[in-house]
Amino acid sequence: MSETGIKTKAYAAASAGSELVPFEINRRQPAPQDVLIKIKFCGICHSDVHQAKDEWGGAIFPMVPGHEIAGIVERVGEQVTKFKPGDRVGVGCMVDSCKACESCNEGLEQYCEKGNVQTYNALALDGKTPNLGGYSEQITVLERFVVSIPDSIPLDKAAPLLCAGITTYSPLKHWKAGPGKDVAVVGLGGLGHVAVKIAHAMGAKVTVVSRSLGKIEDAVLMGATGYVATSDQASVERASNSFDLIINTVSSAADMNTYLNMLKRDGVMVLVGAPADLLPVHPFSLIPKRKSLAGSTIGGIPETQEMLDFCGQHNLAADIEVIPIQQVNEAYERLLKSDVRYRFVIDIDSLIGEKS
Ligand code: NAP
Ligand code: ZN
Repeated sequence: MSETGIKTKAYAAASAGSELVPFEINRRQPAPQDVLIKIKFCGICHSDVHQAKDEWGGAIFPMVPGHEIAGIVERVGEQVTKFKPGDRVGVGCMVDSCKACESCNEGLEQYCEKGNVQTYNALALDGKTPNLGGYSEQITVLERFVVSIPDSIPLDKAAPLLCAGITTYSPLKHWKAGPGKDVAVVGLGGLGHVAVKIAHAMGAKVTVVSRSLGKIEDAVLMGATGYVATSDQASVERASNSFDLIINTVSSAADMNTYLNMLKRDGVMVLVGAPADLLPVHPFSLIPKRKSLAGSTIGGIPETQEMLDFCGQHNLAADIEVIPIQQVNEAYERLLKSDVRYRFVIDIDSLIGEKS
């Protein structure tokens, strides 16, 4: 450890679309309100792939991706009250915000009027320090942006909840998924499979809308009672006028009108999937039955803690494939082919053997 920073092994992409390779970074020494976390596991979100390829534009390189972080508190600053060394904690997509606007004051830091400060591919509030993410051994984070992971959830299965969990819990709660509600989840990937489990635990009737029949057995195990394969036109037609709420997690361009047609009168489709493409919507997909198309991003810190506690109480977590970090590039390729059931999680201890 040096006075200036804490040497930390990581994996980074040097430029858009380049392979991730070993990379050494410096973490800041914990300031009075900071928590230094030893990262144990980090999930691979499709957003990591979008950003490492700079699909959304404006990416900052070298980039250390990773915003589904689960680990153990190593050290805390003197003003930290919520955490102590040894605690099981998580960090998601944000590590800071203005902390003064209306949204921040309501605990909706993700909608900070000045823009939330993302865990990676963003500059810190000083406007010049690039933030680096969770594909790394340690991270220093403001206490306010750290959450507790319930003892009942293993850290590896908890990691994906920090993004996939909160990104789906928040709109499910906001649009009142629960008993008597027909909810569809489009795309059974990282976000989608957690959405199915959470919506089921909230008491809603859940249907999976996937491209093929290949995931039907898994969907049932996760709590779905309905399944639509969009490859089968008859199945799509049967699903017309069926859902109060659709959580759409699709990661690349797809025809939104097909899904909107599945909403009932006054139904809402919420986009959480974030392909870079424009998604054309026909006005008559919305007008005749007063339907709404909405969007939602992650969730605030209080809601993230609420989501983790909810998952702990309902004995619910992600279905994962744990990989050493040396397989991260292969995992990106497989994720693009939806060849993962249902989230890759990097075992960060695999960095120990890497040369720095
Ligand atoms: P993922 O694991 O790759 O899952 C996406 C799923 O979408 C796939 O498993 C697939 O499901 C379906 N899909 C993919 N391409 C499709 C296509 N062309 N047509 C129809 N369906 C398709 O990705 P993820 O990690 O869950 O992330 C999903 C999206 O959410 C990404 O765009 C990500 O950037 C975004 N995201 C947004 C937020 C937010 O705050 N709003 C947070 C996290 C992630 P089937 O095989 O079942 O068809
Ligand atoms: Zn994510």
